[in-house]
Amino acid sequence: MNMIRKHLGWKLFLSYLVIIVVGVVSLAITAELHTPAAINRHIAEMATVMGGNTGMMTDLTENFTRAVNEVLLVAASLAVVTAVLVSTFVTRRIVKPVQAMTAASQRIANGRYEERVQAVGEDELAELGRSFNRMAHELAQTEERRRQLIGDVAHELRTPLSSIKSVMEGLQDGVLPPQPETFASVEQEVNRLQRLVRDLEELSKAEAGQIQLEKEEVNPAELVETAVSRLRPQFADKQVDLDTDMAVDLPPVFVDPARMTQVLLNLLGNALQYTPSGGQVTVRLSANDRVMQIAIQDTGIGLTSEQLSHIFERFYRADKSRSRVGGGSGIGLTISKHLVEAHNGRLAAASPGLNQGSTFTISLPLNVMT
Ligand code: ADP
Repeated sequence: MNMIRKHLGWKLFLSYLVIIVVGVVSLAITAELHTPAAINRHIAEMATVMGGNTGMMTDLTENFTRAVNEVLLVAASLAVVTAVLVSTFVTRRIVKPVQAMTAASQRIANGRYEERVQAVGEDELAELGRSFNRMAHELAQTEERRRQLIGDVAHELRTPLSSIKSVMEGLQDGVLPPQPETFASVEQEVNRLQRLVRDLEELSKAEAGQIQLEKEEVNPAELVETAVSRLRPQFADKQVDLDTDMAVDLPPVFVDPARMTQVLLNLLGNALQYTPSGGQVTVRLSANDRVMQIAIQDTGIGLTSEQLSHIFERFYRADKSRSRVGGGSGIGLTISKHLVEAHNGRLAAASPGLNQGSTFTISLPLNVMT
């Protein structure tokens, strides 16, 4: 009984057997019920021609019933043999792929993400096999991203930590003087670590879609002005021109002002960082009846098309040494993209090439109060 419960093949065979038994029994009963009447009718017809004989009728009925039963027995045996063959074949077609999937899923559970099953054909089983393979592929990619994230975080922590450690050792050995500059360099590294931890927290929230937006109707020009005025002193320090070019009478946007300011500050901060002194950054604000666009264009170091394709990946820095000196963690753009997308908008980057400047464009849908 346990065996039947556990194996699809046995269940299939049993179901065929039930159909055979029902078919044979109903045939036998029908034959049993109808034979005497049918033979009676024939005999009655014959009797009028050949003269009556009732003894012959009982004989005929018995013989006929026996013949029918024998035929049924042979047919039932043939049907049982066919049931065995068909259920074996069907079982092989259905159970084998299912067993293969069970085995593969166990291997995946043990961490072997490269596991795949064969999925040929068009039927539901083949479709199940294909979606199993898709799931395995997604799992492998998630696992790869997780591994990469841990590696990246460890790498990001290593540099400031070893620099703090070497300053401490220098102080202890008396190689470094306990001067304000020495302590300032340690503080700078600690600040970088703090920024990294804060960015990582933001990133994990953003990636999990857990950022709470407090949306309200906002004048987009005010949004841009707030961010621009906050960074104006830094632009002046580095002697990079900061201009705005805003269309008049723009409709309000329905956004979280704090989050959108955060995105603008990130983009403006990058534009400043990657534009040499004497360069120019322009913020353009425009709209059609569906989309509002904020474009931040700089005349800075620009990006190759290869760099552009990675720019929104976390920890990606096009120019590692330059970005690190500026304290960049390579997470800012990833967070900004998530924030803009949380507003149902798009963040895109474009550049004609190295040293030809870049443009980062935020597109926000208009008339959407959700
Ligand atoms: P970071 O904190 O390193 O600036 P981001 O995620 O903000 O991190 O930016 C990722 C990388 O994209 C930067 O390291 C830089 O190489 C490149 N990048 C961002 N903005 C610009 C820009 N305006 N011009 C050129 N490169 C840029």
